[in-house]
Amino acid sequence: MKKDLIFIERLIKEVEILEKLIENEQLEDYGRIGAEQEFCILDNNYRANPINSKILKKVSKEGFVNEIAKFNMELNTEPIDISKNCLKKLENTLTKKMNIVKKCAADFDSSVILTGILPTVRKYDLRYENITQNPRYFELCESINRIRGKNFNLRIRGIDELVFEHDTPLVEGCNTGFQFHLQIGPKDFTKMYNISQLIAGPVLSVSVNSPILFGKRLWHESRIAVFQQSTDTRIISGYHPGTLPRVTFGNDWIKKSIIEIFKEDIIRYKILLKSLKKFKNLNTKNPKLEALSLHNSTVYRWNRPCYGIYKNKPSLRIESRMFPSGPTILDEIANSAFWLGLMMFFKKSEIFNFSETMEFDDARSNFYSAAQQGIDCTFKWLNGKRIDARKLILNDLIPKAAVGLSSINIDPIDIEKYLNIIKERTSLRKTGSRWIIDSFDLLSKKVSNQNALTTITSKIIQNQKENIPIHKWDLAKNSVLINNPSKLLVEECMDRYIYSVYEHESFSLAIKINDWKKHNYIVVINIKGKITGELTKDILTNNEFLKQKNKIIIKDIMKKNPVTIKPDENILTAVKLIKRKKLEMLPVVENKLFIGILQKKFLTQYEYASPSLLSKKEILKNEERILGNYHSGEKGKTIIFMCGIHGNELSGKKALKNVFNYLEKESIEVLGNIIGIQGNLKAIEKKERYIDVDLNRIWKQKNINLLKKGKLSDKHEYKELKNIYDLINIIIEKKKKKDIIIIDLHNTSSANGLFSIINSKNDYQIASSLKIPIISNLFKKLKGSFSEFYSSKNISSIVFEGGTIGDPASIHNHETGIYKILKKCKILSKKDIPISKLEQVSENYNNKSLSYKVKYIHQITKKDKFFMKPNVINFQKIKKGELIGYDDNGKVFSAINGKILMPLYQEQGKEGFYIIQNEKIK
Ligand SMILES: [Zn+2]
Repeated sequence: MKKDLIFIERLIKEVEILEKLIENEQLEDYGRIGAEQEFCILDNNYRANPINSKILKKVSKEGFVNEIAKFNMELNTEPIDISKNCLKKLENTLTKKMNIVKKCAADFDSSVILTGILPTVRKYDLRYENITQNPRYFELCESINRIRGKNFNLRIRGIDELVFEHDTPLVEGCNTGFQFHLQIGPKDFTKMYNISQLIAGPVLSVSVNSPILFGKRLWHESRIAVFQQSTDTRIISGYHPGTLPRVTFGNDWIKKSIIEIFKEDIIRYKILLKSLKKFKNLNTKNPKLEALSLHNSTVYRWNRPCYGIYKNKPSLRIESRMFPSGPTILDEIANSAFWLGLMMFFKKSEIFNFSETMEFDDARSNFYSAAQQGIDCTFKWLNGKRIDARKLILNDLIPKAAVGLSSINIDPIDIEKYLNIIKERTSLRKTGSRWIIDSFDLLSKKVSNQNALTTITSKIIQNQKENIPIHKWDLAKNSVLINNPSKLLVEECMDRYIYSVYEHESFSLAIKINDWKKHNYIVVINIKGKITGELTKDILTNNEFLKQKNKIIIKDIMKKNPVTIKPDENILTAVKLIKRKKLEMLPVVENKLFIGILQKKFLTQYEYASPSLLSKKEILKNEERILGNYHSGEKGKTIIFMCGIHGNELSGKKALKNVFNYLEKESIEVLGNIIGIQGNLKAIEKKERYIDVDLNRIWKQKNINLLKKGKLSDKHEYKELKNIYDLINIIIEKKKKKDIIIIDLHNTSSANGLFSIINSKNDYQIASSLKIPIISNLFKKLKGSFSEFYSSKNISSIVFEGGTIGDPASIHNHETGIYKILKKCKILSKKDIPISKLEQVSENYNNKSLSYKVKYIHQITKKDKFFMKPNVINFQKIKKGELIGYDDNGKVFSAINGKILMPLYQEQGKEGFYIIQNEKIK
C-alpha cells in the first residue's frame, strides 16, 4: 500500500534527523519532571462507568484526556523545572486537578479511583462498545486483530491462575498507571536510560498495587502481565520465532546512543498505526517527529525514551511507565521521589559500562520478580550478589536516593517526607498489593467474592480522599452490604469452581460424583466442553437407573436442552428464571461452553434486591456506628437495635455482630429491615459508661432544638447524640414513622438483670415475646433516656436489659432475645433461627413476662456518698423499713414494700436504686 510506504519512508527519515540533532548537540540540556495520571470512573455501585466523554467535556481545559476504555481517563501535567519544591508542586497539582475531576464525576453520580487494576472490573466491561470513540483506538484494535487474529488469550499464574479468552483489545483498559517523566540532557541520556533499567526492579517491588483481576490473585503488579499479553501480536508457530512482545522491558543495555532503541523499534516491530493527517515539514529548527512519535507510542517499553518539543526547544525524556495508579497521590509521589533520587545518585556514580556491572538479563529478571512477588522478592544485584528486596531498599537504596535528591537541591523536608513513606512501607511490607490481597483474604472468608471486591473498592476511594499513605491503611472490613444487587451481573455472582461429566461416561461415575458433592445436580458436556444436558435430582435418585448404574451411559438418560443463562445477564433475570422454571441450579454458558453455575439457595440475597433504607453515602458516613444493615426493602417492619449507649455495656454489640454474621453468611431471607447501630462510640472504645455526661440522660427536645441551631454543648456525648439523631431521622423520614421499632440493648451492674422496660402499653406485646419481666413506667419518672425520647415521638421503643455487665451469659441472652423479637415481628421465620439459640435458653428466661411498675426511685448525688448493702440483686424482695444501704446521713431504709431494681454498684450514675411492684396489664 502506498500509505504504508510513505509512512515508513518518513519514519526512517525522522530517525536520521534525530540522530543529527543529537550529534550536533541541538537538544535542550535541562532538567524537568512531569507526570501522567490514569484513573478509572465508577458508578454508584462501584463498577466501571463508561462516561469519560461526558466528563471530558467539562474538564478538557484542565489537561484531562480520554483513554482507550470509556471508563478510563488520563491527566497530563505540565512539565515542572527541577527545583527545591518540584516534587511538592507535582503533588499539589495532581491533588488539585484530581479534586476537579472528582467533583465533576460526582455530578454524574460517579466517583474516580486510583488503582492499578480496578478490583471490580468485569469481563462485561471490556466489550467492544466500551472502546472510546476515537479513530486512533479503532485503528489500533484493528491493526492488532489483523496481525494476530481475533481472539486474545490471557494466562497469568499467581496464587490463583487466570485463563481467559477475549475478543476485544480492551483488556489493557483494566490497567491504569502513573507515568513519571524526566527530561534529560542529551549528553547523559544513554547513561540515564540504562540507570532507569537498572533500578526498575527494586523501585517497582515497593510500588506494586495491582494484585487482583476478575477475583483472582495474580502477580503483585499484574498490570505488567496483563499489558504484555493483551497487546501481544506474535503469531506462535512450531519454531520459536525471534520476535518480541510489543510490551517489553528491552533486550540489552544501550551502548552508545538512544538512537539504538528507535532503530530497534523499526526493525523488530510491525507498524500498527499510520498517521491519519498530513505530516508537517521536517526542514525546520524544531522538527516535529510525528511518525516516530506515533510508532513509539505503539511499542510499549516500561521505560520509554521520548522526543518532544517544549517551549520551542526539542528535548529528550524518559517516561517511567511501570508505576500503577494509587494507592494515593502521596504514595505515587513517594514512588517517583524514590526513583528520581536513585536516577540522580547513579548519574554521578562511576558506572559507565553497564554490562560489566550487571547482566542485562538480571536487570530484566529483577523487574519481573518484582512484578510477580512485590516486596517479598529477591534480586540479583550489582556484582551478582543475591539480596532480599527489603534489605536492599532499606539499607542501600533509600540512603542513596536521599543523596540523589539532595544533589538536585530538593527541599530536605520533602526528601524526608517522601522517602520515609517508602521506608515505612518497605519495613512494614505494606504495599498496595499486600493491602488488597490481605483485605480480600479476610473478607472472602465471610462474604461472596463480588461483595469482597466491592468493599475493597469502596475503601480505596475512601482512603484516597483522606490521602493517607497505604502503609497506614487498616484492612478492609465488611460491616455493611454496600452493593445494590439489582445492578449485578451473572458473571459476578456465579460459582466458577464447576464440575461436570461427559455424556459418554457411565452413570455410576455421575452417582459417585453426586455422593461426594451432594448437590443433586450435574451438568453434562460433550468432548468439546459444550453443554448438552443435565442430570437432575429425579434422574440421580431414580431407583430403576440406580439398579443398573454400571450399564447406563449418561447420554441415554440425561435431560436434554437444559435452561441456561449468559454471564452478562442481570442477576435478577437469573432469579426470575429460577423461580419461573422452578430450578435448583442454573448453568452459566458462553458460546455453549459451561463456565459457571448459579444455585438457587445462594440467590435469595439478590431476590430481595430492593434499595436499602440507608444510602451508601449515609452508610459510609456512619460506617463505624452501623454494625449491620440487613434488609429486604420496602415491605415489613424496620427494627433498629441500639447497643452501647452506655460504653461499658457491651453484650448487645457482641450479640448483634453474631446475628448479622449469621444472616449474611447463610444468606437468610428476611422481610423487613434490621439495622444495628452503636451508641457512645468513644465510651465503647474506652469501655466506660460515658465520657462527659450520661448519653442516656440527654435525649430531650430542648437539646434537639439546640442541636438544630448548632448551639449544642461541646461535651463529647452531645456529638454522639447529634450523629445518632441524624442517622435515625433518615430512617424515620423514609419510613414516614411507620413500622419502626427501636430496641435499646443494655446491661445492669448487679446480678439477675434480665428484664425489659417499656414506655407505652402498645409495646407490651413485643416485649412479652421476650418472656422476661417487663417494667412499665420507669422512664415516665426519668426523663432524657434515648428510649423514652423516641417513645414520646410515637415510635415503639423498648429497653432490653440482657443481664450483668461482663457476664458471657448476657451475650447469649441478648442474642436469643434479638431472634425472638425478629420472629415476633415476622422479619425472620422460625425455620431460619439457629436452633441452638432457641433451645439453650438461659435459665433467666423463665418464660414469664410478669410486669412491674416503678414505685420509688432513690436519687443520689456525688456528695451523698451512697453505697449499697452488699449482694443485693435485681428482683430481690424488700420490706418497708428494711435496710438497703448507707450514705452521708447514715442508714437508708426502704420506704415501701416491693422488689428492688438496678441497685447501684458503679461509680457513675444518678439513681441509687428503684423499687418496683407487680401490676396487671389489661
Ligand atoms: Zn445502660
